[in-house]
Amino acid sequence: MPDTLGRVIDLHSHSTFSDGSESPERVVELAASAGCTAVALTDHDGTGGLERATARARQLGIHLISGCEVSCAYSPGTMHVLCYHVPASGGPLQEELARLRNDRERRNETMARKLADLGLPVTYEEVVAEAGGVGVGRPHFAAVLVRKGVVSSVQEAFDSYLAKGTPGYVSKARIEVETVVDLARRSGGVAVLAHPLSLGLERQSLAAELQRLAELGLAGVECYYGRYDPETRAELAALASRLGLVATGGSDFHGTYKPDLSMGTGTGDLTVPDTAVEELAARRPPADPG
Ligand code: AMP
Ligand code: ZN
Ligand code: FE
Ligand code: FE
Repeated sequence: MPDTLGRVIDLHSHSTFSDGSESPERVVELAASAGCTAVALTDHDGTGGLERATARARQLGIHLISGCEVSCAYSPGTMHVLCYHVPASGGPLQEELARLRNDRERRNETMARKLADLGLPVTYEEVVAEAGGVGVGRPHFAAVLVRKGVVSSVQEAFDSYLAKGTPGYVSKARIEVETVVDLARRSGGVAVLAHPLSLGLERQSLAAELQRLAELGLAGVECYYGRYDPETRAELAALASRLGLVATGGSDFHGTYKPDLSMGTGTGDLTVPDTAVEELAARRPPADPG
C-alpha cells in the first residue's frame, strides 16, 4: 500500500474547461487543501485550462502536471487516455484535439436540434451557457433538462434522452488509441490508460489489452482511481507492475457534476502515491536532437 504521510497526488481532474463545475484555479486550490504535492488538470479533449491552473499552482507551491483526457474509439466499453506533460498549446496532439473539438461542436448542435424536434424546451445556446461556453457535452444537456423540469435527475436525462440508443443521442468523431499514444509522445508527453475497468474486460483480457497498449508505447495505467475500492486498486497496481507500466491515479474530480468525488481523496479513501510523478517523467520521450 502507498505511503500516505502527506505525499499524495491527484492526476485526474476536470474544470470548467470541460465538464467540471469548478475553475482551473479552484481545482488546484482544492488539491492543495487536500494535501496533494502534485496535481494534474486533465480536461476532456483540451488543454484550455492549463495556463490558469499552472499560474495558481505556482502561487500555492504545488506541482501542476499539464494534462488532458482523450476519449478513444472503443467498443462496447469506453477507453479514455490521459496524456501528461503535453504543452498547453501547440504541437501535434493539440492540432488533433482542435479538429475533434470542431466535430464535437457540430455534434452538439445536432443533438440540440434533435431534442427540440422531440418537443423538449432546450436550445443549443442554453446548453453552451450552462457549460460556461467551453467543453460543452451531454452533462450540460442533462443539467438544462433537469433545470427545466423535463427530468428529475441527470441520470434520467441520460437514460431517456442522452445515452447511446436514446432519441437525443448523436455520436461524435473518435480517435484511435494508437494515434493518441503516438501524438502524446510526439508532443513530448506520455499516455496513461484512465479507469481501466471501463474497458469492460475480464481480468485476463484486460491484462492482454494492457500488454498490447504497453507495446504501443503506453506509459502507465490508472490503478488508484477515485471510484475503485482498495482491493481493486491493489490488484491493478500489481498488474501494472507485472507489465512494466507506471501505476498512476486520481480522483476524476468533476465538482458538483460528480459530487461524490473529491479532489485528492476520491470517494474518501483514495491515496495516490507520489512516486508516480517521477516514474511518469522518466517515461517521457527524449527531446528531439537538433
Ligand atoms: P459527451 O462527451 O458529450 O458525449 O459526454 C460524455 C459524458 O457524459 C461522460 O463524461 C459522462 O460524464 C456522461 N455520460 C455518458 N454516458 C452517460 C450515462 N449513460 N449516464 C450518465 N452519464 C453519462
Ligand atoms: Zn468528464
Ligand atoms: Fe474518463
Ligand atoms: Fe475524467
